[in-house]
Amino acid sequence: MSPLSYDAIVVGVGAAGSVVTEALSGAGWKVLALDEGPWYNPFRDFSRGPARRMPAGIVSDPDTGFTAGMTKAVGGSMVFYAGVFFRLHESDFQTRSKCGCGVDWPVSYQELAPYYRKVEVFTGASGGNKNIFEVPREPYPNPPHKLSGAAWMFEKGARAAGYHPAPTPSSILSRAYRGRPACTYCNMCGEGCMVGDHGSPLMTFIPEAKKHGADIRPLHKVLTIETDRRGRVSGVVFRDREGNRAKAVSDLVVLTAGAAHNPVILMRSRGPAHPEGLASKSGLLGRNLMLHKGGRYMARFPKPVKGFMGVSGGVNVQDFYEGAPGADFLRGYTLYVSMTPRPPSRFADWYLEDLWGKDLVEAMDSYDRMVRVAVVGEDQARPENRVIPDPDHTDEDGLPLVRISYSESDNERSLFSHAVGTSREICRAGGADDWELFWSENDSAHILGTCRMGDNPKTSVVDRWGACHDVKGLYICDSSVFPTSGAVNPACTVLALAARTADRLIRRKAR
Ligand SMILES: Cc1cc2nc3c(=O)[nH]c(=O)nc-3n(C[C@H](O)[C@H](O)[C@H](O)COP(=O)(O)OP(=O)(O)OC[C@H]3O[C@@H](n4cnc5c(N)ncnc54)[C@H](O)[C@@H]3O)c2cc1C
Ligand code: SF4
Repeated sequence: MSPLSYDAIVVGVGAAGSVVTEALSGAGWKVLALDEGPWYNPFRDFSRGPARRMPAGIVSDPDTGFTAGMTKAVGGSMVFYAGVFFRLHESDFQTRSKCGCGVDWPVSYQELAPYYRKVEVFTGASGGNKNIFEVPREPYPNPPHKLSGAAWMFEKGARAAGYHPAPTPSSILSRAYRGRPACTYCNMCGEGCMVGDHGSPLMTFIPEAKKHGADIRPLHKVLTIETDRRGRVSGVVFRDREGNRAKAVSDLVVLTAGAAHNPVILMRSRGPAHPEGLASKSGLLGRNLMLHKGGRYMARFPKPVKGFMGVSGGVNVQDFYEGAPGADFLRGYTLYVSMTPRPPSRFADWYLEDLWGKDLVEAMDSYDRMVRVAVVGEDQARPENRVIPDPDHTDEDGLPLVRISYSESDNERSLFSHAVGTSREICRAGGADDWELFWSENDSAHILGTCRMGDNPKTSVVDRWGACHDVKGLYICDSSVFPTSGAVNPACTVLALAARTADRLIRRKAR
């Protein structure tokens, strides 16, 4: 039997892949969308307790211990995500011209703004317009979330310390919107939302793509992207849920398997015209990995603040987003109020493992008095930070896992230490006791930049639209194309970039 033929094949139906699948199928295209992970039904699967997760297939750096996490599932890493939904700042697109570091994006903020708007309206994003560090923008479709006690204390402290706190945008619904209910503030997003207000593609782009007739197949892993004798994309080879190998044919493949997995899929897709794998001519495939290394600061307040009820984000402070006076680091960071983990035993497991006896009891007594502050600092891209096929570990298909090869520089260490200082200053100005915890984590949930976007084929992997410089018919438009990391959570930008590429493909076909 000859393989089935499609107008487009989407590889990885995560954040970006969901947007592309919805847009192309909505334009009447015949779309095959393959994802290695399961397809959860939130209302059935998440109400039964924490979902079983498929391993991410990522191995830590053996020297530094750095690692990164993502979710393999239809809907991708946003399925269990925290909903924080920032746009990048205007300056993020021009760090080389404006600050002499990083590279300029081939896309400006103004070019991306209509797509930011599109995905904010589609998901029903909530937010306010009070952030003086952002360019003026249209109102969010929904108002900001009510502040939790923790966010309120942080806001009070930030004002007292002379900073400019603003409501944090979120893709979680602050009120009923387009047939979906408002958030209940249960803080169970990380276990899977069964209410319907969560902004993951499972509740937004995927149901629409299904209505448009997209052929979405979970538990289908793409092994290679195929090319013809001229080096043009011709389809993909995949392994289905029963373990059978098959081929699907298309002259358009959109690769959206995320910044960890894209390079490794491309490297193993060798053909007569591409003996080293696809998209590898610049020598940059897999390089310039950026991680937004995790960091948290926690402070105790005299009265309960119930920091475990609500949504992550609350309020944020971006006074040092573009840098700090006299600082010995490049660019800057965002601080926002993150949720105290639920249940309390998780708080103890994660943060108090070194405490025993009276100290542990005292710390646990503080559970509902803690304000937890997240640091998202700009990570400067360096070619030596990268993902590679792991030489020592293989998956169930006998293929190498993805190895993170990442080390932190003095720049990131200085930035984090400045951010902890600002967090402490704010919490103390808000009335915190002197009991505090802070730490820097060797992992991240933001994996960015391994297939850099740019105009020059010698210094980038894809062009400004996500088209691969080396391979006709192959597009990449997810977290891997970021030239710089910015200092905010990336999901909103991932969705906007994907919407822009999909729009481009639809317009070109219509011509
Ligand atoms: C726990 C967690 C919390 C987060 N919270 C936030 C937040 O609050 N705000 C924010 O902005 N960002 C957050 N992020 C980050 C954000 O979710 C990601 O940056 C974003 O989802 C990346 O989108 P993507 O499309 O590049 O990849 P993903 O969404 O990760 O999608 C990649 C998809 O490709 C599939 N795939 C991989 N390999 C193959 C293959 N060989 N064949 C077929 N399919 C394949 C995977 O199964 C997955 O579905 C969070 C991430 C995590 C993990
Ligand atoms: S806090 Fe809101 S989005 Fe998160 S799980 Fe609860 S209801 Fe869903």
